[in-house]
Amino acid sequence: MISPLGMWSTEPEISEFKRKKAMRLVILGGPGAGKGTQAQWLCLYLRVPLIPTGDLLRKAIASTTDSPSQSDTLTVLGHQARQYVEKGELVPDTLMIEFMRQRLVQPDVSEGWLLEGFPRTAFQAEELDFQLEDLEQRLDWAIYLQVPESVLRERSLGRSRFDDQPDIIQHRIALFQERTLPILEYYSHRQRLLTINGNQSPEQVQQEILQKLKG
Ligand code: ADP
Repeated sequence: MISPLGMWSTEPEISEFKRKKAMRLVILGGPGAGKGTQAQWLCLYLRVPLIPTGDLLRKAIASTTDSPSQSDTLTVLGHQARQYVEKGELVPDTLMIEFMRQRLVQPDVSEGWLLEGFPRTAFQAEELDFQLEDLEQRLDWAIYLQVPESVLRERSLGRSRFDDQPDIIQHRIALFQERTLPILEYYSHRQRLLTINGNQSPEQVQQEILQKLKG
């Protein structure tokens, strides 16, 4: 099988992962760290569904303008989250935690998942563990893509998302350092942190993740 990034991977490797058990992973990194790229590939490779909170929020926000009067869950979330996402602020923990609580009990994610963009605060990380305890599940690994701040800024400026304007990016990077970096200690203390050098080509990052997952 050829992975989306064009690298060879073999069926025996996949089944080796599948035989073990369902994988539950989170991917962490600053804005522009490459979480989206690696998460998509990893989900195909491990055959687990992706739960990308940033994308889901942007979709929810778009649905508020596509169909402003609708009152489905996604549109309601969009209305509540819009003011924060547009400014590069974090959506309040309570909102995100409730959203994840509803998402993680859906049948399509009972056999593993990869979370991208959640948790983003130490409080969210703790709450995730509580939710998993209730579901009698456990997080396997938190994968941290480590990238220098200057590279994060450069990469984010190269994108054209509505929340990727220079001053908003700077704010998101600062929030990442202040609110998300403390999560690393939370996971490292629990021996669940895999730190990956994210400042190399996507293929090299992919290889390093695989190596470290295999232990
Ligand atoms: P990036 O990781 O590149 O900053 P994302 O697409 O993951 O971008 O997130 C975009 C925005 O969505 C964030 O700036 C924030 O406003 C909001 N967001 C996403 N996930 C969360 C979360 N877990 N908690 C709070 N806000 C979030």
